[in-house]
Amino acid sequence: MEISEAAVLANIASVRRLVDPATVLMGVVKADAYGHGLVSFSRLLVRHGVEQLAVAHAEEAFRLRDAGIDAPVLVLNHAPTADLPGLLRAGIRQAVYGEAQARAVSRAARALGCPARIHVKVDTGLSRFGFSSGNLAPLARIAALDNVVVEGFHTHLASAEEDVADRQLSLFDDACRRATGLLGYRPTRHALASAAIAAGLHGRAPLEMVRPGILLCGLPPSYTASDVPGDAGRFQPVLSMTSRIEQIRSVAAGTRIGYGAAHVTSAPATIAIVPVGFADGLPRALADSGRVIVARRYAPIVGPVGMGHLTLDVTGIPGVSTGDEVVLLGSDGHRRLGIQDWAAAAGTINTDVLVRLASAAPRVVRPLSEVIEQECYV
Ligand SMILES: *Cc1c(COP(=O)(O)O)cnc(C)c1O
Repeated sequence: MEISEAAVLANIASVRRLVDPATVLMGVVKADAYGHGLVSFSRLLVRHGVEQLAVAHAEEAFRLRDAGIDAPVLVLNHAPTADLPGLLRAGIRQAVYGEAQARAVSRAARALGCPARIHVKVDTGLSRFGFSSGNLAPLARIAALDNVVVEGFHTHLASAEEDVADRQLSLFDDACRRATGLLGYRPTRHALASAAIAAGLHGRAPLEMVRPGILLCGLPPSYTASDVPGDAGRFQPVLSMTSRIEQIRSVAAGTRIGYGAAHVTSAPATIAIVPVGFADGLPRALADSGRVIVARRYAPIVGPVGMGHLTLDVTGIPGVSTGDEVVLLGSDGHRRLGIQDWAAAAGTINTDVLVRLASAAPRVVRPLSEVIEQECYV
């Protein structure tokens, strides 16, 4: 798998164009940076000016610090008490949803003699984590806890659709005003994730920080779109995946292919075997319906997707030989395959497919310098 630094750069710039210039970007890199590789993807974000990062679990925050990434990191989920000293020592921020959680954070910070920077989360209609935006009395008690600094105040939208988002944002706006009154200062406010940023909602809610995830990967936040809506080609998929043809065989009509022997060739065929399968994250639903790119042509997947192999019908493609590159995600000439094609085949959303990409498989970063050089030579 390859990660394009040029695409990361383009996506950061495109997000910046959708928000006020002074807006702080908090890149959401949970779930192994949506399958892009937590550390390598985060490094690229930080290198190109993304000021802060957010992860779901304490473990991910520790991995970032171990890799030498020292940007502010927010843990979105409730961290186990045992992890709090480590998080606090590393200056990692914690999203706080409840008073008991806040007290545990305060105790740990007091024991270490350091501040605990927290981002208080309010629920404005997603009905998930958070204090109710209607009752902020707990906020005053939390702010009074030893060693606790309420650095941020945030909510999460259920939808970027106008009526839902508008209602949530006006509740949030009101909650922010009351929170500022209670605290005596205004914490960093943030609410918008990719769908709302792409929908241009930052104009409606120009808060200090936004939390894009999938947009930084260059992929659409919508459930069904194959491109980021209204992007005019400015968002570029960051991840591509290639493999090589391991073996080619000519088979007669009536040959059964793969486990289950369900696929039977209807004519003599040239079959190519590729060492990639569902253990690498390919949806099994691509069996007999998906396709890849070989020699700038689409080649259908025939038979099942195995754990570590898949079979292609390359009958119509001239000059294919062992060792040739197979593009599973990415483009070759005018042909293009996106994670959206996989998601559609599997009847699911792009992020569901992305998080199944084998985390152990190396993500090679194609650096900017290489792209610039290539452009100079053509
Ligand atoms: C996942 C997540 C995001 C990022 O969502 P995208 O749609 O990928 O931009 C932002 N905020 C919170 C709280 C999240 O859990």
